[in-house]
Amino acid sequence: MNQLNLSNHLNNLNEQKDKILFSFPLYPPLELFHSMDLTTLVLWGLKNEIRSTQHIYKHIQDYVCSIAKHLTEFILNNGNKIDFLFSYNACDSLRNLPEIIKEGLKEQDYHLPSFHIHLPMNSLDRKYTEEYLKDEFTHLISSLEPFIPNKISFKRFSRSVELFRELRDLKKGLEDLIVKNDYSYINYIKSMEACKYLSNENQIRFLESKYKEFLNKNTSKSTNKVKRVILSGILPPPPKIVHIIEESGLKVVGNDIAKYTRSLHYTPPKGSFKTIEDYYLKFYQNHFPCPTLLYTTDSRIPLLKEMIKQKEANGFIFIGEKFCEYEYFEIPILEKQLQDENVPMLDLEFSAEDIKNYEPYRTRIDAYSEILTTK
Ligand code: SF4
Repeated sequence: MNQLNLSNHLNNLNEQKDKILFSFPLYPPLELFHSMDLTTLVLWGLKNEIRSTQHIYKHIQDYVCSIAKHLTEFILNNGNKIDFLFSYNACDSLRNLPEIIKEGLKEQDYHLPSFHIHLPMNSLDRKYTEEYLKDEFTHLISSLEPFIPNKISFKRFSRSVELFRELRDLKKGLEDLIVKNDYSYINYIKSMEACKYLSNENQIRFLESKYKEFLNKNTSKSTNKVKRVILSGILPPPPKIVHIIEESGLKVVGNDIAKYTRSLHYTPPKGSFKTIEDYYLKFYQNHFPCPTLLYTTDSRIPLLKEMIKQKEANGFIFIGEKFCEYEYFEIPILEKQLQDENVPMLDLEFSAEDIKNYEPYRTRIDAYSEILTTK
């Protein structure tokens, strides 16, 4: 399958006359947008698709992460091809981006309808924050309704939820299968990337075909004595980095990556919600902990320790996104706590410019592998 890039994908969607909604950060109400027949593009990790960020520097500082840089560049260059923008509050880098982007587009005479919800970050299990979040969704639904042909229905929404549940389960299951049957973890990253711009139904078909491909145990490698590691970070590492990790003798057995496990972990169970607002309250209350969801941060370290235990991991590799304030607040604390559990951490950092030359990482990965194997 030829992998689409976002620009081509956008052109195809324009030709099909889809209603396109650009969204950030990473955990938007996808099921709701799907039930409204909106094609949602979550702009997260466009490093391989944006070669230059020359247009953004009059709008944002140089010292922001690649995610903020690339999504701003992409929207400012493609504002005339999209219909709506959706955002919710996250880190400081993204907080004011919707206004900055809208102003940038206004300079090009393009007025983009945009929608926003505020996710309470202190705690989501107090009565008043629960009510507040539900009100945010009621308001979002009523703001979107005038822009879509059909009234929003709970029945359609529930169908979309089931589709996303199936998709998330397939993606989690594919990782388990690839790890269990001793295939390179690169297969998981490549599969996830290859289907990211397909419709849900085509993603399901694609993932089912991948299942068949990886169903049998890979007999070419014996991995019994290999040390096992978990990957963590906002973005997945480039396949070349995974290749270097595996060449150093380590086996990737799981991930705490925002774009993968943190996004796929939880869908509220069938029958546990009676309204769309109810669904999203449960969805965000039980979301896999992520430093960008401040109310989840207390539960992150215990959960990661549990994941390490369950995956029988010996090490933890942090794929740092340069200038990510949230992740870098957490990492020193996490590193210390994992050290106390005898799980050493390797801390790698990638910037917007790091797209090709990965060899300098090899020495550090090899040294880390040596530490793990001599433990
Ligand atoms: S959470 Fe970090 S990586 Fe994500 S947009 Fe904010 S600063 Fe960038």
